[in-house]
Amino acid sequence: MVILDGKKAALDLKEEVRVRLANYYKKGAPQCNLAIIMVGDNPASEVYVRNKAKACEAVGIGGKLIKLNENTTQEELEKYIKAVTKDPKVHGVMVQLPLPSHLDEDRATELVPPEKDVDGFTTASLGKLAVGKQGFLSCTPGGIIYLLKKYKIVLAGKHAVIIGRSKIVGKPLALALLNENCTVTVCHSRTKNLAKITSKADILISAVGKAGFITADMVNLSAVVVDVGINRIDNKIVGDVDYNSVSKKTSFITPVPGGVGPMTVAYLMKNTFLAYQKSLNGKYD
Ligand code: NAD
Repeated sequence: MVILDGKKAALDLKEEVRVRLANYYKKGAPQCNLAIIMVGDNPASEVYVRNKAKACEAVGIGGKLIKLNENTTQEELEKYIKAVTKDPKVHGVMVQLPLPSHLDEDRATELVPPEKDVDGFTTASLGKLAVGKQGFLSCTPGGIIYLLKKYKIVLAGKHAVIIGRSKIVGKPLALALLNENCTVTVCHSRTKNLAKITSKADILISAVGKAGFITADMVNLSAVVVDVGINRIDNKIVGDVDYNSVSKKTSFITPVPGGVGPMTVAYLMKNTFLAYQKSLNGKYD
């Protein structure tokens, strides 16, 4: 069994971005900037935003945090988003989710124009992904695919089973794996006979958010298992997968922490760099 080391792969991806950006800077190109809009002080979001700021610093992206207070109205939030997206010095814009419950997340994220949508959450980005056009793939699916490829795991022809159908993980990941020529099955809370489906997966990805949800009997021998879940148990972060029993059966497995989480942040750096490159050259690569 091989551990898919997300910490290491994330360092590699960030280093790629750092080197490519440094080449632009050497030629006198302007600073690449990412703006993060955060509302309130959700403790988990604070940690994620801190990690994103650290990653920006490591690769040479200027991070601009717009922190609004918990009582910000929808109108005020939209005004800030519109203003920052218009700033030509800002290449990527993301709204840190979740927003406080009185705010409409969909309306807020839709205001980010496709060319700055480095989170890939807008209808435009998801639509491009659905029809196989170039655009921004959201960061968790992008990070997962980067990690699988880093370990030379062949995707074409493999049966990938995804549990979870969120717009930030399950759905874009299903489309991205289809674009990689996987055969994709998406399971969710209403799926019947889940274990029967998961035990047929060559690649099993769990994005449910329940500790211990995936047990060894649900996993095919030699499967690749990717654990997206983040669950806090007794002040410890664990995934969805019962790691000790499942890892004995798998060929590859991601740990939690140190698997998908760091890849998500690193992929945000990649997307921000691509947005920057497109703003300079009119193309992504
Ligand atoms: P979500 O929380 O919006 O929804 C959970 C999904 O699980 C739903 O689609 C639901 O249908 C499915 N589900 C719930 N109970 C189920 C059951 N009994 N059987 C089958 N499916 C079931 O999804 P999300 O926002 O994608 O988050 C999922 C998990 O991934 C959370 O723990 C979240 O914290 C984590 N996450 C991690 C990263 C990362 O970078 N590592 C990024 C995003 C989300």
